[in-house]
Amino acid sequence: MMQLVVATKNKKKLSEIKDILKGVNLELLSLDAYKNVPPVIENGKTFKENAVKKAVKLARFTGQLCLGEDSGLCVDVLGGAPGIYSARFSGKDKNDAKNNFKLLGLLKGLPALKRKAHYVCAVALADQNGLIGVVEGSCSGLIAFEPKGSAGFGYDPLFYIPKFKKTFAQLGEKIKHRMSHRFYALKKARRIIEKCIEKQVGN
Ligand code: IMP
Repeated sequence: MMQLVVATKNKKKLSEIKDILKGVNLELLSLDAYKNVPPVIENGKTFKENAVKKAVKLARFTGQLCLGEDSGLCVDVLGGAPGIYSARFSGKDKNDAKNNFKLLGLLKGLPALKRKAHYVCAVALADQNGLIGVVEGSCSGLIAFEPKGSAGFGYDPLFYIPKFKKTFAQLGEKIKHRMSHRFYALKKARRIIEKCIEKQVGN
């Protein structure tokens, strides 16, 4: 069976990626299977650039087909911020709670209509020979007035889906994993992965 290394150390992202790719004829490995993994500096200007960096560098290191992922939250009224800086929005001693607190502060007093946001996820696939493909998915919502729910990670307690009148953290995995930015990016990536599998079977 073909192996795919998922180039992330974020356990929540990893389990989301595993769940969404369920059913693909693949053995998914995490970076925990490797020692002395080289750091990847996320200094790209776009989600796609960062995803490509992760996939290409770690494919070269592992010698395997590798999936690089970069994602974040873009808030319209903040000109797309925090964007690629989503993980480190609250600075050096960042964590999810501090990031959410900072975001709520910046949107203080704004009505629901001014709280539009979308998550973006870029997924890149690479092997030892270099980049195979890169795709992107997104998912729209509003920034809630206060955090609600305990599922998911990052900005999920603030990411409100009007259709369900709940945040991603309230909706939980079953729903989030079928409508998230990661779901839409991986839906496209799945086609690339399946082509790689066909190619391998043909050899
Ligand atoms: P990365 O690890 O550099 O890609 O950073 C991604 C950051 O974006 C995370 O630390 C979260 O703050 C945010 N983010 C990305 N995807 C999600 C999601 O599905 N839910 C909540 N926050 C997310």
